[in-house]
Parts: sequence; structure tokens; C-alpha cells
Amino acid sequence: MTTEVLTQNEIKNINPVFGQLSFDNHEQIVFCNDKDTGLKAIIGVHNTVMGPALGGTRMWQYANEWEALNDVLRLSRGMTFKAAITGLNLGGGKAVIIGDAKTQKTPELMLRFGEFVNSLGGKYITAEDVGMETRDMDLVRTVTPFVTGISEEKGGAGNPSPITAYGVFMGMKAAAKHAFGNSDLEDRVIYVQGIGNVGESLVEHLSNEGARVFISDINQGRLEEVRDKYSATIYEGNNIYAEEMDIYAPCALGATINDVTLPQLKARVIAGAANNQLAEENKHGMQLKEKGIVYAPDFLINAGGIINVYAELENYDKKEILRKTENIFKTTIKILEKADLNGITTHQAAFDIANERIEARKNKN
Ligand code: NAD
Repeated sequence: MTTEVLTQNEIKNINPVFGQLSFDNHEQIVFCNDKDTGLKAIIGVHNTVMGPALGGTRMWQYANEWEALNDVLRLSRGMTFKAAITGLNLGGGKAVIIGDAKTQKTPELMLRFGEFVNSLGGKYITAEDVGMETRDMDLVRTVTPFVTGISEEKGGAGNPSPITAYGVFMGMKAAAKHAFGNSDLEDRVIYVQGIGNVGESLVEHLSNEGARVFISDINQGRLEEVRDKYSATIYEGNNIYAEEMDIYAPCALGATINDVTLPQLKARVIAGAANNQLAEENKHGMQLKEKGIVYAPDFLINAGGIINVYAELENYDKKEILRKTENIFKTTIKILEKADLNGITTHQAAFDIANERIEARKNKN
């Protein structure tokens, strides 16, 4: 969009940040630009009532800047509720770097990004997300203390993805218990969409439990690698949503539950790692409920990663990380029952509990 094609009146009517569809009273949005390294990033601080805004950095080749802004607004908001429902004293934040992580992520760019994070004085604490690795966080650590997800050799808690996957596994078992009366996943037909860091680790848990796992990814090499390591079948079709299955596990990007896919879904349970799975929370959450599909809220069951990085701030050990992550099973059961009892969506039930915690803290402050 260029200003030349807009009339003065049209410009007056555009609210590019606070008027964005995904804007939800975010406290601060920081646009970071560095000509020398080519860095173009946006840091979103949604809410710091519960503590500093912690959330990973995603590097992605967005179609345009609006898409990047929309993503950071949605992701940072999700982090607020994820931390609150998990009982962590953290606010919600997230960052996006616009670009291709495979070809445009240079050490100089990451260091410059780290300096921008540092300039916020701890209000935002970063970690890894899609397109980032533990070693990137180690590099960022050289210019700011406000980073987590650093390697164990450097004193951090290491890659959070296996813990995220373990939490998703716990949430999935809870949702299975709710839907089928049994949390055992043996022989359940489960489709894992996206077998990156989290997806692969989830496949490992599922195949260990004897589930019939189907995998899909846009990266053919990954598919073969994961198939050969675990007992999983590569999905050869072209419309995963319409397949007969017990459980759909979205572990790639968000908004895969939308107007197009939802009417086709045959799964009885949805439980996966991807953030913001519902394109429109209220509308699609309600449609899932009407179809009798048990949806385990993403921000509840994918919290293992944040629990893992939070350990770096609070100095708790692996045992405590696992205990807190295992607790996702109980919380998920509680949320699913609350939703049924009150006739609301599971997303709403989780959201309400998270919000109550934030409001209580706000009133105490
Ligand atoms: P990743 O980049 O390692 O893996 C993502 C995978 O999805 C890649 O293999 C990619 O090829 C695949 N993919 C992309 N588009 C696809 C499509 N249309 N269909 C099928 N596959 C597709 O990322 P990750 O760290 O495994 O994270 C996966 C999801 O979980 C993301 O949405 C992330 O935000 C969320 N999440 C991750 C963590 C964590 O600890 N890593 C924590 C919470 C949430």
C-alpha cells in the first residue's frame, strides 16, 4: 500500500496499529530497522501485569508488513494468556523478524536484533520460535541479558521444543480421555501436521505409545527422516483435513482451523503445538463445539516451552520443569470439564481462567 494511491481522507481513516484487527490493547509495539544488517523486526509487548513480557522470536518470509504485524499482535497476545493459565509470573510478548531464516539470518542481524531487545530494559524477554535455534539465542545473549532458551553449555535450559512436545502429549491425552473416556493413545489414528522441532518429538511420544501416526510436512526430506526414525506413515494425500482420524495435531503454523477447513474436519480431537490454531477464536471455537470436536486450547497445551525457558529466570531444575509440564494434563481436564459445564467453548474456558488471574493481579498491584 503506498500513500500516493490514497486520498487525504483515506489516510485520515487508517489506524495502522491501534486500529488493526488483531490489536487487543497491546502495551507497546516496537518497530526495529537497521539498514546495515537488513534487520526489519517488530516486537510486540501485549501485557506486563503478571511480569516481563516473555515470548519467542519468529523469523518468517511474510507476504507483507501487515501480515508480520498481524502475526506479532496475535502471537504476543497468546503469550499473555499462555503464561497466566500456566501459573507463571510472566506477561506476554513476541517478536517477528521479516525474512527468510535459511538465507537472511546472519550473526550481525541477530546481534542488532539483540540490541533492540536490550533497549527495552527487560520489559520484553526473547527466546526461540519458528526459524530460530538455541545457538541464535546464545548469540543474542552476548549483547543482552534479556534472552532465554540458551544452550545448556551456556547455563540455559536448552532447546524448549522437546518439553513443548511433552506438554502437547499431556494435553492430547487429557483431550482423548475427555472424548473417548480413555487417555491411552494406542491404536488411535493421529495426524501430525508439521514435523519440525516440536512435531518430531511429539511423533516420538505417540509412536512409543503405539498410536497410528501419519505425518505431513512441506519438507519432503524431513518426512523421510522422521518416518525412518519412528513408526510413522507419510501422508500422501492433499487434504489432511478431510481424512478420517481420531486426532488432528497441528504443529506447523497457525489459523489452520478456519472457514474452509472446519466443515471438512472429521477428527474427534484437536490437540497440537501450533499457536493461534483457530483463525477466529469465538466463531471457530463455537463451530468445533457444535460439531462435537474436543479442542484442547493451543495456548494451554503448548506451554511446555515457556515453562522450560522460565526455569532459566527462576532457577528451577529439570524435575520441576517436567512436573509443571505434566500438570498440563490436569489443567486440560479441568478446562474441558468447565467448558461442558458452562456451555462455553474450551478456548473461552481457558481464556476466562487466565484472565481472572491477570485481573486479580491487576487489582492487587
Ligand atoms: P519448526 O520451524 O521447527 O517446524 C515447523 C514445521 O512445519 C517445519 O518442518 C515446516 O516445514 C512445517 N510446515 C510449515 N508449513 C507447513 C504446512 N503448510 N504443512 C505442513 N507442514 C508445514 O517449528 P517448531 O518449533 O516445531 O514449532 C511448531 C509450532 O509450534 C509453531 O507454530 C510454533 O509457534 C509452535 N510452538 C513452538 C514451541 C517450541 O518450543 N518450539 C512452543 C510453543 C509453540
